[in-house]
Amino acid sequence: MPAVSPDYEKNAWASQSARFEEAAALLDLDEGLTKILRTPTREITVAIPVQLDDGRLEVFTGYRVQHSIARGPAKGGIRYAPDVTLDEVKALASWMTWKCAVVNIPFGGAKGGIICDPMQLSPFELERMTRRYTAEILEFIGPERDVPAPDVNTDEQVMAWVMDTYSMHTRQTTTAVVTGKPIDLGGSRGRREATGRGCMIVCNEALKKLGMAQAGARVVIQGFGNVGSMAAQQMAAHGYKIISVSTIDGAIYNSQGLDIPALIAYRAKHKTILGFPEAEQIDAQEALLLDCDILLPAATENQITSHNAGKIKAKILCEGANGPTTADADPILRENGVFVIPDIMANAGGVTVSYFEWVQDRQGYFWNADLVNNRLQQIMTESFHDVLHYAEKHKVHNRTAAYMLAIDRVAFAIKLRGIYA
Ligand code: NAD
Repeated sequence: MPAVSPDYEKNAWASQSARFEEAAALLDLDEGLTKILRTPTREITVAIPVQLDDGRLEVFTGYRVQHSIARGPAKGGIRYAPDVTLDEVKALASWMTWKCAVVNIPFGGAKGGIICDPMQLSPFELERMTRRYTAEILEFIGPERDVPAPDVNTDEQVMAWVMDTYSMHTRQTTTAVVTGKPIDLGGSRGRREATGRGCMIVCNEALKKLGMAQAGARVVIQGFGNVGSMAAQQMAAHGYKIISVSTIDGAIYNSQGLDIPALIAYRAKHKTILGFPEAEQIDAQEALLLDCDILLPAATENQITSHNAGKIKAKILCEGANGPTTADADPILRENGVFVIPDIMANAGGVTVSYFEWVQDRQGYFWNADLVNNRLQQIMTESFHDVLHYAEKHKVHNRTAAYMLAIDRVAFAIKLRGIYA
């Protein structure tokens, strides 16, 4: 375990490391191999000068961390947020390595981020910042090197700018350099919904495993961005009852279930979920503690900590976000019998369809939505049961099983490749 500090539960790298060290010890991994696996391959920090609309110059700090390329090109999103740190990006990059290995797709792990407040930037400023960031990391990315994707506060438009900037420099349109692009620019059908759809698929399996009914299962969702809103939409359409949704602005609740298509339309019009008719406003932190069947955090890291884990009443925790639960919260959830679908399994639907997008771009042949969704269903279901079997066989909890399965796969690839000297 890393040294415990007062900020321990605020540091995603500490959370990632604690889980990694536990799983590596249980696997009885060679110490040298453990060193390789715990250390990101490459950490890049770049200065991003941008001319603002009023003529002033600003310099933003950007990161790209490649944790591993043992199983294939590095893969992972780019986030824009004021509180991005290198430790956070390192953790997110490592989680991408483990996630791709859990669902057994041929990628390593990476992540990027820029310290900025995207809400304060105009579309032109965002574009200039995105293009300069792409130019700064240009030689490190590419379809066979490192393939970025959207994450918090980045979207299809941002991916289109990354793709265009890369293509202008390489003098050829290279759609496979990023995923999560608009469909008209080599994006995949089903990618926008993929992470939320994947969350629903694993919830379906968890309910079956626990002998609980899907119809009317009560769900609380934290975050209503790409992952949260798409999970809500898919789940509501399949008979789940979404009783609470929260965003950075606050939370809303209706014990009878929220009308999700109406909520999505309301948010598009009013730019907030607050004030939505037929729902009461509640405290966002209290929303996590509501009596429900499934709690689906889909916002950011470190939301479920040693301080609130003991008060969670959900039977299933489906981690749509990356790292929503701290390592210190894990034993409390275990003690209380919460069935955890860990992030590196639960939200892997996004990277799985990103893999499909990369394959389609390289083939120049595009699949229909049914093919994408059926293949996603197959991979998510198989991976869920792989993790459960691993947990049963090794008598460990789901999260530890997912890490062990992933680390084992990456370690095997490193052993097969050998160490280049
Ligand atoms: P997003 O920017 O589209 O949405 C984030 C949402 O979280 C927003 O609704 C925001 O208001 C809300 N939020 C932020 N802080 C909050 C708080 N303290 N309480 C309540 N709500 C809060 O981001 P996203 O792409 O949906 O990503 C969400 C999480 O899912 C992140 O952890 C991300 O790494 C992870 N993830 C995303 C994808 C993907 O395909 N986009 C894939 C896998 C994992």
